[in-house]
Amino acid sequence: MIPFNKPYLVGKEAHYMYQAVMAEHLSGNGPYTKKCQKFFEERYGFKKCLLTTSGTDALEMCAMLCDLKPGDEVIIPSYTFVSTALAFLREGAKVVFADSMKRNPNLDAEAIEALITPRTKVIIPVHYAGVACDMDRIMEIAHRHNLLVVEDAAQAIDSYYTSNITHNTLLEEHQTSHIKHNTSEGNRVPLGGIGHLAAFSFHETKNITAGGEGGLLVVNDERFIRRAEILWEKGTNRAEFFRGAVNKYGWVDMGSSFLPAEINAAFLWAQLENLDEIQAKRKALWNKYYELLNPLADKGYFQLPDIPEYASNNAHMFYLVCRNLEERTNLIKFLKEHEIQAVFHYLSLHSSEYYKNKHDGRELPECDRYMDTLVRLPLFYDLEIEDVERICEVIRLFYV
Ligand SMILES: *Cc1c(COP(=O)(O)O)cnc(C)c1O
Repeated sequence: MIPFNKPYLVGKEAHYMYQAVMAEHLSGNGPYTKKCQKFFEERYGFKKCLLTTSGTDALEMCAMLCDLKPGDEVIIPSYTFVSTALAFLREGAKVVFADSMKRNPNLDAEAIEALITPRTKVIIPVHYAGVACDMDRIMEIAHRHNLLVVEDAAQAIDSYYTSNITHNTLLEEHQTSHIKHNTSEGNRVPLGGIGHLAAFSFHETKNITAGGEGGLLVVNDERFIRRAEILWEKGTNRAEFFRGAVNKYGWVDMGSSFLPAEINAAFLWAQLENLDEIQAKRKALWNKYYELLNPLADKGYFQLPDIPEYASNNAHMFYLVCRNLEERTNLIKFLKEHEIQAVFHYLSLHSSEYYKNKHDGRELPECDRYMDTLVRLPLFYDLEIEDVERICEVIRLFYV
């Protein structure tokens, strides 16, 4: 059986975990945590990074930092993982679901403005499959309406957006920081470095993992840094105390225990050291899928992943969009009979058991279409090119 996903070791994971034990520091915010955070701050120019125990936790921190009042509204794509909505619901927000685009499952920036009311506080774009949302448009709308932007970059490590805002005044007003990679077309900025806040995930199914579960909060807007550090460590000013900025350490705000153990940070560090190698391998597999399936897509059997001109590809996911639900069901079954595990993705949140009675009743036809027709193919570090060839041959057999 070719599984949909499989954990892998790529370098010194076990060694660094052993080192963490030998260094006699296993609780959070130790040397490996600091190394990982610095890696992200230096490689991507993120202003402040804090490791968390999951992507969900990082989103919860984002939601807490937005300081929502009951009845405040947040705009979220319906076609996303449950945590995107859950984090904000827990803070008492009203979740307003947006539809996806026709070309890909990302939220349709053109549909956002119609959803804004005087109670709207935050827009949460999700970079589905690691492919950027139209961030110039989203940041421009947010700026005009004085809204915060939280990027759900759970799937978007090492992926970029090409901005056409050359003078960058818009983003500077939001005090965001990011490394600008000048290209002929515009500024190449890393995903997670555009919104005021962002969340990454290092869950087992993502491009890199912190040993199963893990995440990262990114703070691009300086105004949120102090409070982020406090929320992270159970509402205490421990970080300031250890920097010598205050002489008493105590309880100053809300918070929780969002820090991962050093064992997890040590695992993550080994994967970060090999990030370029991991990404190269994933991209090679992704490109092979694309090359072999493109002729079938040309015949109209299905739609392949779409990478807009402003987005890069971090090879997080390879998916097909089938013509209808029945065909997708049969394709998944056919693949299973040939020892290949493929999975469908999100059940749109607006039609979920938990939320359908709370949703305002608007139809979101593109979300529903992806819910019924999108199928994800196996993609993980230890998958081989020959596996991809076999999977594509089985898909060809199904259609032709
Ligand atoms: C994986 C994922 C999350 C949650 O991350 P965890 O680390 O599993 O908590 C949130 N949003 C999206 C879009 C994801 O893909």
